Amino acid sequence: MTTLTFDSLNPATGEVVGSHPKQSADAVRESVGRAEQAATWWAGLAPAERRRRLLDYKAVLTQHLKELAGLVHDETGKPVGDATLEIVLAITHLDWAARNADRVLGRRRVSTGMIGFNLAATLEYLPLGVVGVIGPWNYPVFTPMGSIAYALAAGNAVVFKPSELTPGVGVRLAELFAESVPEQPVFQTVTGLGETGALLAKDPRVKKVAFTGSTATAKRVMAACAENLTPIVAECGGKDAFIVDADADLKAAADACLWGAMSNAGQTCVGVERVYVVDAVYETFMRELSDRVATVKAGEDYGPITMPGQLDIIRRHIDDATKSGKVVTGGPDSVRAPYVDPVIVEDVPEDSPAVREETFGPTITVRRTRDAQQALELANASAYGLAGTVFSGNARRAMELARLMRTGMTAVNSVISFAGVPALPFGGIGDSGFGRIHGADGLREFARPKAISRQR
Ligand code: NAP
Repeated sequence: MTTLTFDSLNPATGEVVGSHPKQSADAVRESVGRAEQAATWWAGLAPAERRRRLLDYKAVLTQHLKELAGLVHDETGKPVGDATLEIVLAITHLDWAARNADRVLGRRRVSTGMIGFNLAATLEYLPLGVVGVIGPWNYPVFTPMGSIAYALAAGNAVVFKPSELTPGVGVRLAELFAESVPEQPVFQTVTGLGETGALLAKDPRVKKVAFTGSTATAKRVMAACAENLTPIVAECGGKDAFIVDADADLKAAADACLWGAMSNAGQTCVGVERVYVVDAVYETFMRELSDRVATVKAGEDYGPITMPGQLDIIRRHIDDATKSGKVVTGGPDSVRAPYVDPVIVEDVPEDSPAVREETFGPTITVRRTRDAQQALELANASAYGLAGTVFSGNARRAMELARLMRTGMTAVNSVISFAGVPALPFGGIGDSGFGRIHGADGLREFARPKAISRQR
């Protein structure tokens, strides 16, 4: 029987990077079957042994850092330095998950709170079995590893469906895992496009699906999972706001804003897309931002747009913003497929698609606000609620604004820093999804609480 294949391409050059099987329904079913057996074996290992294997995997990934960064570069087009950074961050998460799994999930005595009953109680978090991970292409190592590492550390087997744009690096991650855990296929990859993700999500032996991708696809994944009541974690898109308060360090704010908006060509779920600056510092901040953006070069500082279809959305948003707002930098000519030059537009109406919808490109809209309160209200007027940023010289006000920002995560006087911190939960609210990866919450997301009460 011939196996259908599909190619992954370098988005910058159009060159074929690799060819991968479009796995059949039977092949996906067989992978899940193997994973079910492997899950029993993996869950049966002592926690210390699982930790040892995962730390060995960390060492293997570190040894292969250059090769993996090369693959990420080839499949996404991003600079090798950025590719290296995402793998280093993924390894940091793997290390944390391995070292903390037993502390977070292991059995502990619980005070029962029952008066007049002589009961003892214990609580522990047991593995789920097989976890399906469906990952995106924008950070093809860092993002899925935020689920894979935590699911493995919690004692589950993983079947990973990488994005059809970045299958090569996904396959390699699983191959390298087998160097540390050769006995059983505890971590496998299935490749394909168009139906593979749904086949995985629909399999009743998959006990949880961790999906990272767009809000629209998350709804389809939920529909596929509904048949078996399979729970999901949905890490979806965002339209993150960046607030600059009156007493902020404006040079630091401009640096952070630019990096948060333009790095990875804006193809970052927690990328800066909307900027709200209080009136008192508006002109100075915009001068700082304009000076810096003039030095940013598409194709040097960041790579191409990885998914060709995304260019249509970016083009539509730039057209919309430049027609209704005041251009600071760039315009419709900034789209030079597959690259997009930085675009900054002021005073775009808040109800326009460029302000409401996720762009996923190196573009931002900027608005002057009366004060920080109005900036917060505008920041919160979004269907998304993934992350955001507050720059302020007043520590108390910064923390208050950060707390009131309707997001899962907020960075204060830095940008996107929460994503690198393994101990913090990562995830959003509203159209940005639900559930959490990373941290203790991320470990518990891939485990089931087991409560035991015992009559003394
Ligand atoms: P996408 O197009 O929404 O998702 C594509 C993936 O979903 C493919 O692997 C596809 O597999 C699978 N899929 C499609 N229909 C499915 C179904 N019915 N059941 C199961 N799987 C299904 O996402 P993307 O373009 O790769 O990623 C871009 C988006 O991800 C952006 O919106 C971005 O904001 C978001 N993102 C979020 C985070 C975060 O952590 N919050 C991080 C990075 C990116 P098949 O081809 O096999 O169908």
